Amino acid sequence: MADHEDLAGTRRRWCHQAPFRHVRWCSVHGFPHGAWRASGTPRHVCAPRRPLSAKNLGGAGIDSGGPVPSPRAARGCRGRASRHACTRGRWVSEETSGSGPGGPTVCPIDGGPGTRGLTSRPGGGRIVLVVSLPHGGALVDLRVEDGRAAELAEAARRLPVWELSRRQRCDLELLATGGFSPLRTFLDQADYESACAAMRLSTGELWPVPVTLDLPEQVVAAASAAGGVLLRARGVDVAVLWLEAAWRPDRRAEAAAVLGTTDTAHPGVQDLLHESHPWYVSGPLEVLRLPPHHGFRTVRHTPGELRSLMAGHGWDRVVAFQTRNPMHRAHQELTVRAARDLDANLLLHPVVGVTKPGDVDPHIRVRCYRALLPTYPPGRVLLSLLPLAMRMAGPREALWHAIVRKNHGATHFIVGRDHAGPGEDSAGRPFYEPYAAQALVGMHARELGIGVVPFRQMVYVEELQGYVPEDDVQPGQHCLRISGTEQRRRLAHGEELPAWFTPPEVAAELRRAFPPRSERGVCVLLPDALPDPRRDQAAAVIAARLREAGRTVTLLSRSLLAEGEAPSHLVVHLIGEVMRNGGAVVCPGGVVHGLAHAAERLAERGLVVDVGIAGEEPRLTDAPSATESSCTRLLVPVGAAPELVGDVVVDHVRTSAYLEPAVPAALRAIRDGEPGAPRDDG
Ligand code: ADP
Repeated sequence: MADHEDLAGTRRRWCHQAPFRHVRWCSVHGFPHGAWRASGTPRHVCAPRRPLSAKNLGGAGIDSGGPVPSPRAARGCRGRASRHACTRGRWVSEETSGSGPGGPTVCPIDGGPGTRGLTSRPGGGRIVLVVSLPHGGALVDLRVEDGRAAELAEAARRLPVWELSRRQRCDLELLATGGFSPLRTFLDQADYESACAAMRLSTGELWPVPVTLDLPEQVVAAASAAGGVLLRARGVDVAVLWLEAAWRPDRRAEAAAVLGTTDTAHPGVQDLLHESHPWYVSGPLEVLRLPPHHGFRTVRHTPGELRSLMAGHGWDRVVAFQTRNPMHRAHQELTVRAARDLDANLLLHPVVGVTKPGDVDPHIRVRCYRALLPTYPPGRVLLSLLPLAMRMAGPREALWHAIVRKNHGATHFIVGRDHAGPGEDSAGRPFYEPYAAQALVGMHARELGIGVVPFRQMVYVEELQGYVPEDDVQPGQHCLRISGTEQRRRLAHGEELPAWFTPPEVAAELRRAFPPRSERGVCVLLPDALPDPRRDQAAAVIAARLREAGRTVTLLSRSLLAEGEAPSHLVVHLIGEVMRNGGAVVCPGGVVHGLAHAAERLAERGLVVDVGIAGEEPRLTDAPSATESSCTRLLVPVGAAPELVGDVVVDHVRTSAYLEPAVPAALRAIRDGEPGAPRDDG
């Protein structure tokens, strides 16, 4: 049991029953019935929460775990809000310094720039302003007024244009909305060097990860001649950077300082050394509009919107959870324990910007998060998507994540095992120690201005049928684990993840997103060297056999694909889209330049069979891949008959499990009602 003393000095107790949904929750207040006791009598002590309206949403919607209490119900409850009134409208609560067994130890919010408002309470105990102040004291907003936007649009006509990369788009959005407060633009050289060397801006504020704008030399030259550069996001003009500084950084040294390695197995190093441009630029940044997002708009909030939303709910204590994965049971356990032990509301704040290559697509993940919301107590959880570009910088990244969550109004932040770690280096050793992130964040706890909730690794114990911190596992107990590789393999094969690992709500979404191979895309590319008309005949045979086996097939016509009729990249894109939707495409190649080169890319959507010519019997050169990506080159003799090519290709598709198992002839006869077939008269 975790004991907390509330402002009135009453003792209140959280029931340590996990997970939340096993507790009977008050449908009005969202607290467990009788979860804590005052003077021995079960009662609710809650803050009145206003329902969400377009006004307090700032125009955005909400996706919360359940119904929001009605204003009438909220008015009718005695609550902390009235006690908090003495603090002139600011939400205050008691400093929390620990919790019960198995729960988190909280690095307290304790002084420092983020906790102005620290005060003492009559009777001695300290109370702390718990709605986090933004880092640096004020929330930055770089968006300009309409009048200035019109002027800027005019001025921008003479500026060179730069289309932002995915990482740069994310950085720009968080700069614009204040997610990166106190930054007002991409770092200049002094701040950059200071951030790399000392994890601080030159003004002294903690800032562990450089946020820079990298450009190629010719764009820098054009921008310095014109005085600035117009920044575009997916074709939309979003900002103007007035050029004041440009320098060539030592990106290798940056990788070593920030990521602690120069090993290109680290995705951050790979990006820095091989995908970034050689010049960094800085100067005043004016934002015309935010980079557009078309999906999941009701669960996207700027820091300002999120703050008003949470204040509108009367949330005075909010623990934020970072993730870049679909939420598994261990994640669920962390969030439930942290929220329960802190008596806090929960902000599910997954990163949907840039994450580690190979991670589950954000659209799929968001569907998983949404599916999980009803498992939390009603009105106590909020889902909001964070457009952050992760650097996978482990310890430094954890510190950075905490600052970003503080800017979004969270009062606490969960840091578990190997937070933002990219896995293993090229020698097979982990890039970061599993608890290095917690150690670094702990060292800066006093000045961070957000409470950090560290967790030991949570493991599933078979005997307990539940999760416990690894240190609590008793001798003789058995822990179950699934590695990241095994997860990916199971998803790639459309196999189930076990229920102890994945909540059923998440499993159902993953199953939709990762269907069995027989429902995934297939693309067959026929070779140039196969002479006409045999190539067309072979294409027709393959299409017919795949259809017979139950596949929906698009047979691309060669006249459509003739050079000049349809650009190659468009054809490749359309083939990819058909595959994404689980269709099969048969493409008589030869006329589309570069199609074979696109095979690897198409293979991310399913099976690609690239048929080649050999002067020998047909043979497989590649075994079917164990991963989702599967690209096979099949060789057929130059004189092969169309039927033979069809047989070889369709056999390969079948043995790779991209066709449903063949129905035995007798069963097929029954199914099709063929004459002479045994009849089922029963
Ligand atoms: P990332 O840390 O890169 O976002 P995840 O999405 O897996 O990767 O993790 C989200 C958060 O949950 C991190 O704080 C991580 O340390 C923590 N975490 C994940 N799995 C566990 C676990 N089994 N035990 C303790 N903490 C965990």
